[in-house]
Amino acid sequence: MRNTCIPFIFTTLIVTAITACSSDDSSSSETATTEESDNDTVTELHAAFSAFNTEATTIYLDGSNVVIETTGLPDHETVYWGVGNSLYLEEPDVATTPSIMSSNNNAVTITVDATPDLTGKTVDTELNTIGIAVSGASIFNDQEGAGDLDQAAASLDWTGGHIGPGVYHYHLEPKAFTDDDDSLAGILLDGVFLYGRKCYSTGTYPTDLDESGGHTSVTQYTDGEAEYHYHIINELYSTTGSYIAFAGPFQGY
Ligand SMILES: [Zn+2]
Ligand SMILES: [Zn+2]
Repeated sequence: MRNTCIPFIFTTLIVTAITACSSDDSSSSETATTEESDNDTVTELHAAFSAFNTEATTIYLDGSNVVIETTGLPDHETVYWGVGNSLYLEEPDVATTPSIMSSNNNAVTITVDATPDLTGKTVDTELNTIGIAVSGASIFNDQEGAGDLDQAAASLDWTGGHIGPGVYHYHLEPKAFTDDDDSLAGILLDGVFLYGRKCYSTGTYPTDLDESGGHTSVTQYTDGEAEYHYHIINELYSTTGSYIAFAGPFQGY
């Protein structure tokens, strides 16, 4: 019975608020912001983007989105650069695919939400680029072609990457820039940042991760604010002797 009063009280409060603030411009714009929070224009790039390889990437805001354009060419050594390149690394144990980076088009552009939608809805990852690493190269999931990663494990270089064909990409912990630490690995298509196996907030392996390897805590780029982010999950992946970069699902779409 008491519930029947609520609409009346609610309406009264709104009318009172509007009346009280009718001469106050800042209050009315606050009301509009609350109602359209999805359309907020972000005015500053997230501090974590300062970690990205500026040789490869161009990153800018476009309304409420962040656009990341990359040549896809990483700033570290790998056998996939091909003999003669200054970043070529001899890796005799890697069963290389025929492609080399310098003869492939590795360029990718992704557009992500500057403010991920953490509604609890999840979206599976798909083949192809699922994110851009700080090196500028692509991040892929735990699948290769139509199957799991085991069949391609022999072709992965020292930093968990290969050319499959298509763009050069990482499936595993990219040791060139995060090796059992809390460094930023990259950003995924849902706008959520991916960090190494350890968390800045505790200095060790987080124990409160969800199914995607995500949790909410401070990072080295959030100025003391807690923020949802993913970690590379600290579980060895079968034949590779390393850790899957990200197997999903996305939490931020
Ligand atoms: Zn692959
Ligand atoms: Zn963390």
